[in-house]
Amino acid sequence: MGKKVKLQRISEHVWIFPFDSPKDRPNLGYICGTKMALAVDAGHFSKHVEEFYAAILAEGLSLPEITVITHWHWDHTYGMHAVRGKTMARAETNSILTQIRQEMSSDPDKVREFLNSDPSIQREYAGGVPVIVVPAEESIMGDCSIALGGVTAELMLSESPHTDDALLVYVPEDRVLFVGDAQLGEFPSWKMNWKKLASFAKKVQEIDADVIIDGHWKPYTKEEFMADIM
Ligand SMILES: [Zn+2]
Repeated sequence: MGKKVKLQRISEHVWIFPFDSPKDRPNLGYICGTKMALAVDAGHFSKHVEEFYAAILAEGLSLPEITVITHWHWDHTYGMHAVRGKTMARAETNSILTQIRQEMSSDPDKVREFLNSDPSIQREYAGGVPVIVVPAEESIMGDCSIALGGVTAELMLSESPHTDDALLVYVPEDRVLFVGDAQLGEFPSWKMNWKKLASFAKKVQEIDADVIIDGHWKPYTKEEFMADIM
């Protein structure tokens, strides 16, 4: 048994379940209000979700009622079938996930291709467990905000060089911003579209945040993050 990963507190209402590079697990966000809690991203696989939920309960916190998705990539979404409560993602994200689901169900080679595409995926799916891809229950069509009780999750559509379905999650009360992998180049070429990066950087610059949480690294101050992307 590996060591148990704990939630890391970022601010009054915000925690993260920290990233794990060998399994390509991204940071999962947890925003807790007096009415309900919201998770940012569903993780790589059901086991990732189980460990995230165990870490939430270990802190005496309640499990999320809503999970929102930052972009369609497997390490952020393939745990979605295992989350509790409502799931929400951009319409673009849902159409990509629906397409992958159809391809995998009609062609077992697609599942094998996915499992063989990276050692981190093989580590995560060790033991022959099935790959289950589902879209979110609700499609996000535009910017919107969710009141959690004393704290708000603002969902913002953004341009990004990484994917065309980026969603940012901003917590104004705590001045924390979740960006998924939005500042990175395109996968798998890592080719950078500088115009899209500039558009993303401008958007982030205008958001009043102290801390920025991305997918696969430690929390940044806004200054550090802007210095990295400009
Ligand atoms: Zn990604």
